[in-house]
Amino acid sequence: MKIKCTVIKDILPLYVEDMVSEDTRIIVEDHIDECIDCKKELEEMKTHKNMPIDIDTTGFKSLKAKLFREKFKAIIFSIILTIIVAILAINYLTEPSYIPYSNDIVSINIKDNGTIFADFGDKVSGYDINKYSSEDGSGYIYHITTWETIWNNRINNKNLGTVVLNPNGEKINSIYYYSADGSGDILIYGKSITKNGGVVTLPRLVLSYYFIIAIVLTVVCLIILIVLRKYKKARNITEKILFIPTSYIIGHLCIKGFNSSSYSASRDFYAILLISIPIYLVFMIISNSYKKFKHNNQ
Ligand SMILES: [Zn+2]
Repeated sequence: MKIKCTVIKDILPLYVEDMVSEDTRIIVEDHIDECIDCKKELEEMKTHKNMPIDIDTTGFKSLKAKLFREKFKAIIFSIILTIIVAILAINYLTEPSYIPYSNDIVSINIKDNGTIFADFGDKVSGYDINKYSSEDGSGYIYHITTWETIWNNRINNKNLGTVVLNPNGEKINSIYYYSADGSGDILIYGKSITKNGGVVTLPRLVLSYYFIIAIVLTVVCLIILIVLRKYKKARNITEKILFIPTSYIIGHLCIKGFNSSSYSASRDFYAILLISIPIYLVFMIISNSYKKFKHNNQ
């Protein structure tokens, strides 16, 4: 039986891989004994079959490099997540919680020489003293507030003790304790500066303005992104910029939740900035991975 070369050549790949039946094998070998052309083809195929060992190694090497890159990325990713969790924990532990007024929180004492000092209770972790000149210029008006932190209460309790309020002999007209709950400030020393005695210290709303600015910037960037979606380079740059206000928004939500008013606005602002940086990095890593994934699947 004379079999055509084309048929043999079709079978050869299977023959080389030893995936043919005994009968087929005999047919192929009989043919090859007589046909130089097919024999050549077989030899070529055999050397090719041996070659892939080399290719396999490089493939393996690139796979190894890829795995290493993935592992490295995973390590960086977990370090960043750890930093985020650490910042959140530190923020939680040191977040000031304002103490409503009571006698054992702060008491005002006067020495014979006119020195007035504030005595802080054990519970107090920190205090803030604001002082301004009275309208008629006859003396100073003080506003004091105190707060506690979980860190100070549970872990490292230090007593603030006594603070002199008028080290230069300033005349103090009145001292108010201001409550962060929005109730009127409480006069704890001297005479009231208003007839009804109520002075309300408002929380600073600066964080809400920053939050709104961040939302506006996010929306603007999104619009630019949609408009420029056909230009790859512009899109990439806009995306990087977009992640800045977005990270800030998420940072704000992490630190403040949905509450934007703050009695310690600068502290909260720095905490938000601090946590926005690793959040931004997470965005960049996710966006890069996504792009690579998309690229590989095109
Ligand atoms: Zn042949």
